[in-house]
Amino acid sequence: MTAPLRGRPGPVSGGLDLGPGPGTQVLRVAVVGSGPAGLYTAEALVKQTAQAAQAADGAAVRVTVDVLDRLPTPYGLVRYGVAPDHPSIRSIADYLRRVLEDPRVRFLGGLRLGGEVTREMLLSCYDAVVYATGAPLDRRLGVPGEELPGSAAAADFVRWYCGHPDADPGRFALDAVSVAVIGAGNVALDVARVLARPAADFGPTDVPDPVLAALAASRVREIHVISRRGPAEARFTTKELRELGGLPGVDIAVDASPGHLAGAFPGDAGASPGDGVRPPGADPADRRVRGNLAVVADWAARGPHGGGRRVCFRFWRRPVEVLGPGRVTALRLERTAPGAAGGAVGTGVYEVLPVQLVLRSVGYRSAPLAGVPFDERRAVVPNAEGRVLGADGRPRPGEYVAGWLKRGPSGVIGTNKADAAQTVRSLLADRLPGGAPPHHADPGAPPLAERLAARGVRPVTYAEWLGIDEREHRTAAALGRGERVKLSGWDALNTASGHPRSG
Ligand code: NAP
Repeated sequence: MTAPLRGRPGPVSGGLDLGPGPGTQVLRVAVVGSGPAGLYTAEALVKQTAQAAQAADGAAVRVTVDVLDRLPTPYGLVRYGVAPDHPSIRSIADYLRRVLEDPRVRFLGGLRLGGEVTREMLLSCYDAVVYATGAPLDRRLGVPGEELPGSAAAADFVRWYCGHPDADPGRFALDAVSVAVIGAGNVALDVARVLARPAADFGPTDVPDPVLAALAASRVREIHVISRRGPAEARFTTKELRELGGLPGVDIAVDASPGHLAGAFPGDAGASPGDGVRPPGADPADRRVRGNLAVVADWAARGPHGGGRRVCFRFWRRPVEVLGPGRVTALRLERTAPGAAGGAVGTGVYEVLPVQLVLRSVGYRSAPLAGVPFDERRAVVPNAEGRVLGADGRPRPGEYVAGWLKRGPSGVIGTNKADAAQTVRSLLADRLPGGAPPHHADPGAPPLAERLAARGVRPVTYAEWLGIDEREHRTAAALGRGERVKLSGWDALNTASGHPRSG
């Protein structure tokens, strides 16, 4: 499908079809979403267009990229998803900042697709639109009691400790003694680690002050990580798993009853015949799987150190009911066993785990965008190498997708770089002679800013975001905490930006 991007000489500038007439020699692209997927897309647009121009003997091909976001703050999950005690991952924002500060790239905050802007508006103002709105929704367990007070999505907990303006700073009081975190992915590890780590460790981080106060007052003593499959099938990355074992004052326990860990560790005491055969879901040759198994085996062999908090991994169990009444008091679990095709099946053996807080960490889900095709089953925009496909299976001219909205919520932040580059290759290839019929902005359409102004809407500018950025640095200095302390709540963001928008 993808033609290689060549800057061969053609009837138009640099071989790229930028539309008729001398006034249209600039490729105007809107990217919706300023998280890693959106900003890596902006970066790839700038780089690949320059390469195409160079390959066509320096022809005057130019690109301008408007990066829209519903928030007044850029960086998406790097700012509001990465755990505060992972500063090296957070520092990806420094790299992305350089993309935003490229003169060909412009940040337009406070614009929600389906609200202040519509798909039709974007397609009339831009030659191409790239949707990169990620996966903002959480997946549900679908078990009774899930709605009880004390049961929440891990995504809500993450937004809370990251100071997302939609999260109420008082949302999590942490008065539970025992917490269940359901799921065996990296988000479950982030959540378990934030609950287990001494609050003092968060002083130098950017967590909002009310969050730091709640962590300091936390009564949490036990964190149970519940996995419906075994350690070999868990989706943790080994570095993040190992990190949990190095926390001061934290014991790690592994529920290693026979037929539970035994399948993952052939030769274990208590292993029954056949236990050494791993289900097809886990590849023993996978470095990550082997690494995870080694870490868990080490923990299983360790005794308690007498730490103040304990993280207990409970494998081969699935939640069947969150128990009340009134609010969460316990979780009913069913023991599971390896099933066909790597899945887990119920064994009919149940147990009740007393907990007062349940955080489901069973994956994220993308949200459909008004007027944009959406595959409800996979929760992605149907696409071929980033080209949005219509109901007829054909690419919709001028519409592209990148990141989690394109491929689902998988991979680490860096995965979005190659993903975005692929989408941009498709976008530019479609503008080569002989490519797919390219879309062109309506030549008579006023620029987006003018159309918005006519409706009384003014985007949040990059300079206004820098106002928030600066206030966060000053807050940290005033509190004697690290480099940055997040402002929490819409009012604080609006005051700091000086933009009159309300959340
Ligand atoms: P994830 O990696 O997809 O893990 C989801 C977990 O939930 C899996 O263990 C899954 O089990 C389990 N699950 C799904 N439905 C369930 C159900 N109904 N009942 C019980 N368990 C259920 O998702 P994630 O943790 O949200 O992470 C999303 C992405 O972000 C991942 O690619 C992750 O690596 C990345 N991330 C990276 C970092 C980092 O690098 N530090 C930090 C956070 C997130 P099954 O496997 O059995 O389906």
